[in-house]
Formats: sequence, structure tokens, C-alpha cells
Amino acid sequence: MAQEDVFKKIVSHCKEYGFVFPSSEIYDGLAAVYDYGQMGVELKNNIKQYWWQSMVLLHENIVGIDSAIFMHPTIWKASGHVDAFNDPLIDNRDSKKRYRADVLIEEQLAKYDDKINKEVVKAAKRFGDAFDEAQFRATNARVLEYQTKRDALHERYSQAMNANDLTELRQIILDEEIVCPVSGTRNWTDVRQFNLMFSTEMGSTADGAMKIYLRPETAQGIFVNYLNVQKTGRMKIPFGIAQIGKAFRNEIVARQFIFRMREFEQMEMQFFVKPGTELDWFNRWKNIRLKWHQALGFGNDHYRFHDHDKLAHYANAATDIEFLMPFGFKEVEGIHSRTNFDLSQHEKYSGKNIKYFDPEQNESYTPYVIETSIGVDRTFLSIMSASYCEEQLPNGESRVVLKLPAALAPVKLAVLPLVKKDGLPEKAREIIDELKFNFHCQYDEKDSIGKRYRRQDAIGTPYCITVDHQTLEDNCVTLRNRDTMEQERVPVAQLLGIIADRVSITSLLKTIQ
Ligand code: ATP
Repeated sequence: MAQEDVFKKIVSHCKEYGFVFPSSEIYDGLAAVYDYGQMGVELKNNIKQYWWQSMVLLHENIVGIDSAIFMHPTIWKASGHVDAFNDPLIDNRDSKKRYRADVLIEEQLAKYDDKINKEVVKAAKRFGDAFDEAQFRATNARVLEYQTKRDALHERYSQAMNANDLTELRQIILDEEIVCPVSGTRNWTDVRQFNLMFSTEMGSTADGAMKIYLRPETAQGIFVNYLNVQKTGRMKIPFGIAQIGKAFRNEIVARQFIFRMREFEQMEMQFFVKPGTELDWFNRWKNIRLKWHQALGFGNDHYRFHDHDKLAHYANAATDIEFLMPFGFKEVEGIHSRTNFDLSQHEKYSGKNIKYFDPEQNESYTPYVIETSIGVDRTFLSIMSASYCEEQLPNGESRVVLKLPAALAPVKLAVLPLVKKDGLPEKAREIIDELKFNFHCQYDEKDSIGKRYRRQDAIGTPYCITVDHQTLEDNCVTLRNRDTMEQERVPVAQLLGIIADRVSITSLLKTIQ
């Protein structure tokens, strides 16, 4: 199946089974805003819990906060967002579609990579075991030609981005003959900068009202509180502050479902370190975060680092963790070495001394910061994409199954009486009453057992328990595994122990410790 079709299926599956709905749907929706349904909110909460616990339980020196979305507007002046939180946009005059100029060029770079990879795959097939990939890449004429073009484009693009040269960005698009995917033409407008922050007004009178911004990232709420936390929590450097919360960006191009939203949620951790140690910590956090992703079990080949070509004004190193979505490798998390830029700026703009006093060195300094910033919604999308499977069964039937990591599944357990009579429903309810304190359980007695299994497969429930007539005699039930569809007979008294171990976030956390 084409990847585009897979993606469409995932989007409709999300809607059909109560994971994600378009916002304001009965009013025809609101672009790039989505609501999470009854299943989606559970999955989202589990993702957040997995992240939160990996930060604040597994690291003695990381604590959390929850800062307000509204903040003093000068914060955004100090952080550079008022002046520089821009994306370069370009319009196609024929289709009237708007694009990010940087994204168009990055897609072009990816096309060269694809071409090179195709040559490599073809050659690997041809030469079999004797294939030497490094040598092939270094000598094959076609690969070298693509590589030279790619490197030249990359160099030109980096320079243009770093110099904020909008005319050059447009020229690159023209020279590379990039066409609008909708109209197929090269009838492009100039490139313009567009600020992504939403603003509103606070205050009751028109005169006294103050223009404030909806935060475009949660990080600044951490920076302006770092000394409060450090002092009241008696934290010593190195230490971190974690936060989960909503962020808002007036994205130019809002496509690809929940990948790019105008209201979304971030899980950010700012780690405060001694100046000079930041690159070491940057590398450590890269590894810690990659492990967190890999522990979900989708295969390490689904992840890669992508180092930034253009460093943000505040960073001295930056990388993205990218995930293989149905539409290619895409950023899910950013890891940035933000230097002491933010804290210094807040010191300057607020006029307050917010230096850290280091009791061991007996000196004050402005800490450097490593940030790990991951989108809840993009993580959600990556997990849904990697979990969605259509399987052909040996009996000729097919099923759609969400192979979610058990610890993140919205419902952990479905309890199903084989028939709606003979005391089986009562027995099933009794089992739920025992287990509901530990797991999210669902009761279902409607339709055949096969149909009920399919419904649970579609929402990713890792275990189904069937209560049959035999259960009333021996107090044992059938425990069915979602992925293998294998069934085992288990005493009711052992259910809690068996299942807890397999579906708990604690078990998942132990794998990354
Ligand atoms: P992009 O280049 O895709 O616009 P970014 O580099 O601006 O992303 P960051 O500012 O590093 O993103 O934000 C950290 C994380 O927040 C991203 O890795 C992503 O998971 C999430 N995120 C950012 N913007 C959005 C958005 N519009 N919708 C959903 N998630 C987002």
C-alpha cells in the first residue's frame, strides 16, 4: 500500500475509534486545530506520564513545574520571539497555496538523498554479498553527481538561512526548478517573513489593555522561574526543570493532521549546567532521549538524529530526533544547547539579578542550558503510525490492529462474557470490580466474541479476558494476547500479577533506566 494511503487510513482510524476529531467539526472545523476523543486522551495522558516519570522519577535532580500560558509580554521581547520567531513564506500565484520556503528547499535536499539511496539499494541487490557500500558511494558516477548537487544546494541554503537572505531563498527555489505540488508551476511570489505568535489583549479598558502573547513554547515559563525553583527546592547545578503544557503557533502551512497544529502540547525539560560543560551534557541528553523513544519498541531504524544546519539565535548545538512517519523522517523532538542566552536576556530585560550562586566554587554565574523539547501530538502521531497494522489471518479473514506499546494503550483489558446469560455477565463484572483500580478495563457483551476481539484490536487493547461456563466452575478465564492472538487459561486470582507486569509504565521505565 502506498504510504500516502496508509496515512489516510491512520487519520480515518483516529476519527472512527475516538482518538482524534477535527476541532469544531459541526462548524466545518478550524484549520490545524484538533480535539482528542475518549481513546485519544487516554493515549495522550499515558505518553505524558511516560515522559514525566522518565524525567522526575528517574532523575533526582529534575523537578517539574506548571507555569501559566499568559506571561508578561516583555518575556517574548527578551527571548527574541517578538523580533525573530518568523518563518519564511512563499506563495504560488497559480494555486494560491502558501508554503514555507525553507521546507520546500529541505524537501528538495531529501529528494537528492532519496535518489542516492535508490542507487545504493539497486547496486546492493546487483552485487549481493560482494557489495561494498562505502566504495560504491565514493566511486559511482551517478551517486557522485547527485551528491555534488546536494552538497552545493545544502551550502547555499545554509548560508541563505543564516544570513536571513530572503531573496536568495527565492532564487534557490527558482534555480532548483521547484514546482508547486498543486499547480505544478514555478510562478512564485517573493519570500516574506511571518511572525508565528498569536496575540490577544489583557485588561478591561481599551486604553489600559496590554498586548500579550499566547506562548509559542513552554520553555520561557521555566526560565523565568528557574531561580524560584532552585532556591525553594535547594537545587544544585546541574539540575533540570520539566514542564508539560500547551503552546500556540500561527503556522503558515497547516497540513499533515496533528503533525503541525496551531494549538499543540509540548513536554520540555531545561537542564541547567555549569558553563563549559554544556556540550558534554548535550551529548548525554541526546542519548538519554533516544533511548526513551527506542524503548517503545518500534525498531531503532525508525529513529535518526538530524543536526541543524541553521542554529537558532540562542543555540551552540542542536539536533532533532526524527521518526519515520508515513510521509518520511520528520522531527518529533528537538535537543538544543541554548547557551546562557535566555537567562542573560531575562536578566537584562527584567533588571533583576538571576545568577546562580555556586557554593562549591564560591562564585556566581549564569548557567548554560540544555533543552529537550518534544511534541506530545507528534509523539502521538508517530506511535499511531507505527502501531497501525492490517493483518491477513490464517482463516482468510483480516483484521486492523493497533500494536500500541502495552503501557501506553488507552484500555489495558477487555472483559468479555462469552454469552449474555447464565451468570457470565455477573462474573465478568466481578472481575472488572477487582481489576479496575489497577487498569483501565472495558466490559463488552455485544456481538460475537470474534467481533468483540476485533473492536479491541482496533483500539489497541493488549489483553482480552473471556469468561465462559467453565469459569464458573474452575475460576479460570481465557487471556488473549492482542499481537499473537494466543490464548492461555489463567486463574482469576493470578490476573493482576500477570497483566500488571506487562502493561505498566513502571516496566517500560525500567527498560530505560
Ligand atoms: P518545525 O521545524 O517542524 O516547525 P520546530 O523546530 O519549530 O518544528 P521546536 O520549536 O523545536 O519545533 O519545538 C519542539 C517540538 O514541539 C517539536 O519537535 C515538535 O514535536 C513540537 N512542535 C513544534 N511545533 C509544532 C506544531 N505546530 N504542531 C505540533 N507540534 C509541534
